[in-house]
Amino acid sequence: MHLNIETLALLNGGQALVLALMLWFGTRDGSNRAVKGLRLRAGALLLEAGGDFILAFDFKLSQTSVLLMGNTLNLAAQALTIVALRMVLGRNLRWREAIALGVTGWLGVTYLGAVHPDYLMRVLWGSAILTCNSLLNLSALWGGCREQDTRAQCLLFWTYVLAIALLVWRNLSLWMLATPPQGIGVPTPVNIAYVLLFGLQPLLASVGFLLLYNEILQRDLYDLARIDPLTGVINRLGLLEASDVLLTKARARRESIGVLLIDADHFKSINDRFGHDDGDRVLLELVASIRRMLRANDLVGRVGGEEFLVLSPSVKEGDLLALAERIRTAVEHTPFHINGQSYALTVSIGAAIASSSEQDMMAARRRADAALYEAKRAGRNCVRISAA
Ligand code: GH3
Ligand code: MG
Ligand code: MG
Repeated sequence: MHLNIETLALLNGGQALVLALMLWFGTRDGSNRAVKGLRLRAGALLLEAGGDFILAFDFKLSQTSVLLMGNTLNLAAQALTIVALRMVLGRNLRWREAIALGVTGWLGVTYLGAVHPDYLMRVLWGSAILTCNSLLNLSALWGGCREQDTRAQCLLFWTYVLAIALLVWRNLSLWMLATPPQGIGVPTPVNIAYVLLFGLQPLLASVGFLLLYNEILQRDLYDLARIDPLTGVINRLGLLEASDVLLTKARARRESIGVLLIDADHFKSINDRFGHDDGDRVLLELVASIRRMLRANDLVGRVGGEEFLVLSPSVKEGDLLALAERIRTAVEHTPFHINGQSYALTVSIGAAIASSSEQDMMAARRRADAALYEAKRAGRNCVRISAA
């Protein structure tokens, strides 16, 4: 076997060109940041294809133009890929670092290729630049990879780690051999591994980008189905799922869960007096003042309209009543602002305790509902708790 650098460059370039066209024509709606990232990656692939074709047809061009044009295109492609990845992930774009790396890489490779030719130093320099590129990409992927639920980010993270390891291996073997084989053409184990990974790099990185995009879309859809768009707290579906999780934990610890149903008093009159938009703003402020009273483990969700549910794990009746009273008082003393005027709002709260032996939270929800009804009947702006 002989690894021919021109053939490899041709395959790489062809691969990058096809992927660039697929990514470009397969994405629409350029207003979405993640889609913009994919399109930028398509642009990077196009540049990479150009750079590789120049390397593949180097016998038709002068040595200097191959060095200048091929490296310019390939380094520009790497810089764009850094920014594209960060765009897809919604991170800080780091244009400056990406461009600085590209320019530094280009100067070094040109010097070691055209001015003062030195193959070993050129490989070392190129590897150092690629490692810095990979480190910038790793820093973008690190946060998500740590969160566990982002498999695609982890996959891409470890692919970049593998690439760095391979670069180190290649340089070590080049520098430590007494008579190092010049060029990538000799099929040593490290050269084969290097050619496999970097030969498939356009494909690997593009599949990685698409997996990331898919993961981001899925997460957005998940949130869209569970987050209330007005207040930003979870909705009925989110509450239903959270209830199941909390109940499972409560069973394991034999602890009870507190349930509070909070309903704004006479909210209709706010809408009638000030209009629906101002009513919406009051709802936002109401949620903020409820949240300020909660512990880190407590959850609040919007059941509908101006009604909110709080789930408070590991509480007994006394603690739950104290929490409800704190919320009621906080809302009562919060001035809500409408058209520059402050307006007082109150809430009525129904409380109930779900014991760890209960099948689900529905019974406790119903008891909290009945208690809320009692609070309304008692004149509003008060807390009632249902007997278990
Ligand atoms: P009560 O003290 O008995 O709870 O009186 P209320 O007026 O709060 O209760 P009612 O259920 O009669 O009315 C609830 C009002 O909440 C009616 C509706 O216009 C308003 N509302 C529900 N959802 C929204 C919303 O998303 N935005 C705004 N601005 N108002 C909403
Ligand atoms: Mg109400
Ligand atoms: Mg209501």
